[in-house]
Amino acid sequence: MYSLNAFVHYLGAHVSIAGGLYKAFNEARKLEINTFQVFTRNPRGWKFKPLDEETIVKFEQAKKESGIDKIVSHMPYLPNPCSPDPEQFQKSLDALLVELERCRKLGIPFVVMHIGHHKGKPEKGWESFKIALEKAFEVIPSNVMLLAENSAGEKNTIGTTPEDLQKILAMAEDIGGDAQSFGFCFDTCHAHAGGADLSTPEKFAEALDRFESAIGLSRIQVIHLNDAKAPYGSGLDRHENIGDGTIGLDSFRWFLNETDLAKQVPLILETPIKKGGKSHIDDLRVLRQIIRK
Ligand SMILES: [Zn+2]
Ligand SMILES: [Zn+2]
Repeated sequence: MYSLNAFVHYLGAHVSIAGGLYKAFNEARKLEINTFQVFTRNPRGWKFKPLDEETIVKFEQAKKESGIDKIVSHMPYLPNPCSPDPEQFQKSLDALLVELERCRKLGIPFVVMHIGHHKGKPEKGWESFKIALEKAFEVIPSNVMLLAENSAGEKNTIGTTPEDLQKILAMAEDIGGDAQSFGFCFDTCHAHAGGADLSTPEKFAEALDRFESAIGLSRIQVIHLNDAKAPYGSGLDRHENIGDGTIGLDSFRWFLNETDLAKQVPLILETPIKKGGKSHIDDLRVLRQIIRK
């Protein structure tokens, strides 16, 4: 066991569950992080193995030993709660409800979901998303919170701008989502690509002000800490290693040291792991260098 007190921040990364869900804690130990994100199942298909008792027990045990409780589950890639197609929507909704239940059993407090693609039918997309939220709030376990992640502004997505997130929050509150059950995951790369310029501390501060007015920063419960490969406003979801992208080190230094938000919620790296190049360990080293002790 290692001391978690060495960090002011909840500093973590998306880690692998290869070999078993509990192996995520081994990865966390190797990286010396005090929070992490996982896919609780194969993220690439619709099919997955149901949770068995042994998996739950091993996970609980490893969780207790590590002292890590800020754990984030990311929804698999295929579900699209905005889908205008009834069959795809139903599959997406089923996947979401299953994930909430898996996280209840595993004691994982945060489920991050992408808001999704409306495929050229925005009205239908919003309607689908509302139904998905409604169904989720009907069954959401008391120990789990659903977090909608801001989009990077790719074609036909919703949930990129502060205005969109404000609309989502109002919708959620209208149908039973409260501060215990619903919030947001804020991805720095997505925000920047989506038109909120984060390339200098001043601009980052202005952007955060806009999100504060729209949703209140206290509704942000997880940060995806990613630099961006593409320029601000590009609408391209391309993550880059911290300091190597168009957001840059000065902005991350400011964000980590000067905002309460960065000191309160899990900071999860989803930066590229490059063959023969950088990996999470390098990004963590950079972050630890710029965090003032
Ligand atoms: Zn993300
Ligand atoms: Zn992304």
